[in-house]
Amino acid sequence: MPELPEVETVRTGLSRLLPGLTIYKVNFDWPKSFPNSKNDTDKFLIGARIVQVRRRAKVLIIDLSTKYSLIIHLKMTGQLVFRSDSTVFGAGHPNDSLLGNLPDRSTRVSFDLGKAKLFFNDQRKFGWVRLVPSVEIENIDFFKKLGPEPLSSSFTVEEFRQRIKRRSKSQIKPVLMDQSVVAGVGNIYADEALWGAKINPEERVKDITDDRLYELYKEMINVLRLSIEKGGSTDKNYVDAEGKKGSYLKFARVFRRQNLPCPRCGTIIVKTRVAGRGTHLCPKCQKL
Ligand SMILES: [Zn+2]
Repeated sequence: MPELPEVETVRTGLSRLLPGLTIYKVNFDWPKSFPNSKNDTDKFLIGARIVQVRRRAKVLIIDLSTKYSLIIHLKMTGQLVFRSDSTVFGAGHPNDSLLGNLPDRSTRVSFDLGKAKLFFNDQRKFGWVRLVPSVEIENIDFFKKLGPEPLSSSFTVEEFRQRIKRRSKSQIKPVLMDQSVVAGVGNIYADEALWGAKINPEERVKDITDDRLYELYKEMINVLRLSIEKGGSTDKNYVDAEGKKGSYLKFARVFRRQNLPCPRCGTIIVKTRVAGRGTHLCPKCQKL
């Protein structure tokens, strides 16, 4: 599943390409992927100019001049592909549709932008696009439950500690991945941040000192930033706005590095399960 850095890569790419363009036409025929009516799209989408592309957690928000917004959740296999005569940009789930002829069998929604097209492809149909009034976004249940953005400058270590400590009896890894605690930290980044802070993923929150939570806060921000710099964690082909491929996994220090030496102490990294999720750790650096 695309994690926060991958979705941020999509946002960065589309932010350079979409604002200012007008939506002339939309094609959709799969109600689960795009549940709005033709009446909605005729009134609030067709003829709308794209104002900006935002992100909240793993959701993209495309604001339109009609004061409506498209909200897009890529889920497991969603991807967005922009095509014009001069530009190819695609990101999200890494498969051949990023580079092949479009629309194809996985295309659920396509937007005609005059000289360009935007395709929402989603093989497994878990993702969705919705057209909603912009002012209503913050009242949507999904957004109301989300914790703060870890990369926002207003998200302080005090707030991080306070939110984590609300679940003092829990193991730290599932708390870190709880989207209502912090938005957008998935499995890869939880493992990497915990390794960085030398915290065992099964350690109870109440046993972790404030200083160590500060280390975790810093590591979480660092791994997310590093991954955005590298274009996301995808380990297969995809193209970002500059045609670069994501490469974060090559820089991962524990994730999917079981049976390899810990980059810090040389101990062999193990893979285990914590709260139902595959978990990678150094048994020495992250001793319980
Ligand atoms: Zn180690």
